[in-house]
Amino acid sequence: MPVSSAAGQRADEPDHPVSHLPLPTSARLWLAFVNTDSAAQASRGDLLRTFDALLSWLHTEGTLDEERTSGIRRRALLQPAAAAAALVDARRVRAALRFLAERGATSERVRDETIVEINRVLGRSAGTRRLDRLSDGTYVRAFVPTGDAFMGLMIPVVEAASDSLAADELGRIRRCADPRCHRVLVDTTKNGRRRWCDMGTCGNRAKAARHRAKDMLRGNVVPSREPHAG
Ligand SMILES: [Zn+2]
Repeated sequence: MPVSSAAGQRADEPDHPVSHLPLPTSARLWLAFVNTDSAAQASRGDLLRTFDALLSWLHTEGTLDEERTSGIRRRALLQPAAAAAALVDARRVRAALRFLAERGATSERVRDETIVEINRVLGRSAGTRRLDRLSDGTYVRAFVPTGDAFMGLMIPVVEAASDSLAADELGRIRRCADPRCHRVLVDTTKNGRRRWCDMGTCGNRAKAARHRAKDMLRGNVVPSREPHAG
């Protein structure tokens, strides 16, 4: 039976003080993509409101280099309808991936539907693949489309989601435990008990709520108690 996190870790290794999985996860890119939607962004709204915003996001995430980004930006000015269609398509992919992040671990139907969506994107693009080294020293796989430049934009994102499925990672991917928060996360802790998207925001709110509840139980709460007269 395959054990997704076992590769590279020796059985005789002592417990590492930093409780993170030894392997990098494929999930970061596609979950970040899901977290650009209006549900996750709440007050800020959809981060991908325009095709240009989509391009900038892909560039910032390292899936498009400077040269290709400006090339596609110029093309978008010449073909605004095609660019608009590419944005609609990106949002469609994003909705499918949110479904996968939230329910993929428990629903085979959701996984099957996402595979259809992933294969729709992978199947329509012709191009070449390349490994690139980024300025920060990390490496990314790049896809350089040979046909319609807009078509290949989603390839790195859906490939990352494919990798998560292939690596049996969905059990570690979930929505933040704060019911008001719609961000999705990958749990890389060893014990698999990460609950919040961010300890600084949602995690802290939960901690503060727990403290308040504890104080209530202990009767330490200082409600407006009448001072004893005399
Ligand atoms: Zn959260």
